This record gives sequence, C-alpha cells and structure tokens, in this order.
Amino acid sequence: MTLALFGGSPTRSQPFPRHATYGEEERLAAERVLTSGILSRFLGSWHPDFYGGPEVQAFEEEWATAYEARFAVSVNSATSGLQAAVGACGLEPGDEIIVSPYSMCASATAPLIYGAVPRFADIERERFTLCPASVEAAITSRTKAILVVHLFGCPADMDALMDIADRHNLMVIEDCAQAPFARLNGKPVGTLGHLGVFSLNYHKHVHTGEGGVVVTNDPVLAERLQLIRNHAEAVVEGKGVSDLSNMVGFNFRLGEIEAALGRVQLAKAERLVSERRDNVTRLESMLTGLPGLKPAPCPAETEHSYYLHALLFDAALAGVPREAVVAALRAELPVTELREGEGPLIRAGYIKPLYYMPLFQRQIAIGGAGFPFTTIPEAERPSYAPGTCPITEDIQDNSMIIHEWMRPGMTEQDLSDVADAFHKVFDNLNFLRSRWNEVGKA
Ligand SMILES: *Cc1c(COP(=O)(O)O)cnc(C)c1O
Repeated sequence: MTLALFGGSPTRSQPFPRHATYGEEERLAAERVLTSGILSRFLGSWHPDFYGGPEVQAFEEEWATAYEARFAVSVNSATSGLQAAVGACGLEPGDEIIVSPYSMCASATAPLIYGAVPRFADIERERFTLCPASVEAAITSRTKAILVVHLFGCPADMDALMDIADRHNLMVIEDCAQAPFARLNGKPVGTLGHLGVFSLNYHKHVHTGEGGVVVTNDPVLAERLQLIRNHAEAVVEGKGVSDLSNMVGFNFRLGEIEAALGRVQLAKAERLVSERRDNVTRLESMLTGLPGLKPAPCPAETEHSYYLHALLFDAALAGVPREAVVAALRAELPVTELREGEGPLIRAGYIKPLYYMPLFQRQIAIGGAGFPFTTIPEAERPSYAPGTCPITEDIQDNSMIIHEWMRPGMTEQDLSDVADAFHKVFDNLNFLRSRWNEVGKA
C-alpha cells in the first residue's frame, strides 16, 4: 500500500468525532441559571456577596470535596489562577521563582505580573516534569517558590520537590491545568504543594468554555486568593485585612453559568479521565513493534490523566527523521470535528522551551526598561540562553511526538484506524527514507 504522503489512499478520510464532554445536563444547568436571572452575584466590596453567587459557591464546595482540599477558589482562567497563586504566595520584585520551560506560556509569565523573575530548571527525560536535581541546582538566595507543571497529566515527582521546598523554605504552586484527577500514590494532584491551579478552558478534559479553579489547604492563602480575585484593594479596609502586600486586586471572577456548567462537568470528570486512560491502554497495546517508537512510560506510583499522549521517537533506530514520520501520519489520518483548521491532531514536539519567548530573550516584560529582570544584578540574572535546559531542548527538537487521539468520543474503530496508520507508516520506513528528501523540504 502506497503511503498517502506519496499519493496512495489514506488510511482514513472521514473526520474523527468531536471531543465529547457536553450534553443535555449542561444545557439544563445553563437554563437553570438563565431562568434564575442571576448571571453573577459578586460584589467587589466587603459584603456577603464578596464570595459570589449560589452556583459559584456550590461549585467551589464540590470541587474542594472532589480534590480533597479545604478550599477551592474559582477564577475565570488558569492563567488568572496562576497569577492569583503567585500573588497569594507573596512573591515580589527581587524574588525568583523556579519554573518549568516545558509548558503553556502562562506557567512562566504569571510571576512577572508581581515583579518576580522566573528561573528555568530542566525536566525529567520521560516524565517531562521538573527534575528535582535541576531545581536544587537553580536555587539562589532570592528563590521564594517553585512552580511545578504536571505536564500532559503526569504527576511530577512531588515527594522529592516538596523535600527540597521544605529544606529551603519555598512555596510550591502546582499547575494542574493538564492534570485533573491525575494521582500520585493515590492522592489527586493540587494539594501536594501549597496551591494547585486547574483550567476549565475548552481544550481541557472538562471545561466551561473558559474558567479555572485554585485549591489550597491553607486558610490564609485561600483568603488572599479570594481577595486578589475580587478587587482586594476595595475590600481590605472593610474586611480588616492588615497585610496589604499584593492586595492590588483584579476581576478574576467566574460567572454563574460557567459555575453551573462546571458542577456538571466536575461530576463527569473522573469518567472522562478514565476514558482517556482506557483509550491510551488500547492504543498502546496496538502500537507495538514499531521501530524507534514507544509510548512515554508513566511511573508506577502515578495515575496519568492524558491531556496529550506523548510518544518517544528515536530517529537512529527508525532510520528516518521524526518530521518524515509525522508528515506521513498526518497524510494517513483525518482531522477532528470542530478542530478542522488544525489538521490531524499529531505533531513533532510540544512547544519551544519557554525561555525562547521574546519577552525572555529581550528581557522586556513590564514596561520597556527591563523590569522585573533589572531587579537582579546582571551577573546574577537567570540564563535564558539557548541550551539553558538541554534535556527539554533535546526532547522538543528530536524525540517527542504528541497526539490527541485518545480523547473521549473516539470509538474502538477510530482507535484501530489510528493504529493502522502507524503500522502502515512503519511498514514503509524504507520507502519513506528513500522518498522523504524529495518532499521533505516542502
Ligand atoms: C491550558 C493551560 C494553562 C492556562 O489555562 P487557561 O485556563 O487557558 O488560562 C496553564 N498551564 C497549562 C499547563 C495549561 O495547559
């Protein structure tokens, strides 16, 4: 069978089904709120409505219970949740925070809002989360916090990271945007550190269109999150808050419709996450015997939530470049309903290491004069040079392939079409090798 990349017929052309998380229950929940006429009930002053309306408060209670946390504070995105978490921790100009370079940009930019400077530590080769030894090496006298990302839904090595944090008196923020109901030793991520931030944007496992939640077991941090979310500066006086640091507030409030949707989605979340696990198990059982390709292993003490499914590719073993394999797979398989514009949901690598973003390369973030980087003497500033995190760069440039074909809604037939495409491409590696140079540069 000729590869579709070279004019053969593709393994499949009918689009894959949409990411199925929504149904009748969500429609009814939204309708309930519309009928009530209360689309939000936040007041940005010290008043019973400072905590928001009935759906927001019920959603937070249910979220806290599900994640075994004392407090859950809803926000309008994980980006705002990360910012609120950094502010709640008390980070300020002159402080450093250790962050992962392999994540969505907000994990590394949230600290800048409070004038803190990110220092990148490298990741573990197969887990893709912060490497404890690299974190330890990145600690300076200015380090105040670590921002851990449970990337793709694989829990980071929190035991080792919390041990480092305890020894150096550091706050730990967990970015759990990709890891709802991911578990480490049976415990959901989010309260393994001091603060855990979840996303409810439409790409995530469960969603409300846009939205987020921050969890914590610490009542002081919870109060600071609530203040930052809702115009702290206008509330502190009435509430009798004496610590004014970072009490310049925002409006990070979630609406009642989103909160009502969030309650329904939360009730489905465990099932939707386990469907991803089942799909990955099924796929991995079919993706065997492919030279140079293996699924990224998941440590035994973890339960992965598979925001994305990562595969590790070895071009030397396969004898063809990673880009050739990905191009050949993209030609074999169709787009996914509602995301047609993105093409088939597979690609080489995840994201350029975050220190390559212009704001780190040029060190221009808040204003044009180099703040907050200038709060640190030039000779002591973190490096953002190419090569800062070599493992991350190697994974991004050479060895990772990620796809999203394990999402709920995929049927057994859909999954076996995916596997058939992989086998077709890997059965034709010799042909791909000989022909790639003719099309590869396109
Ligand atoms: C999606 C995501 C965010 C941001 O989430 P929003 O709700 O869109 O702001 C932050 N961190 C990671 C790791 C993410 O995947």
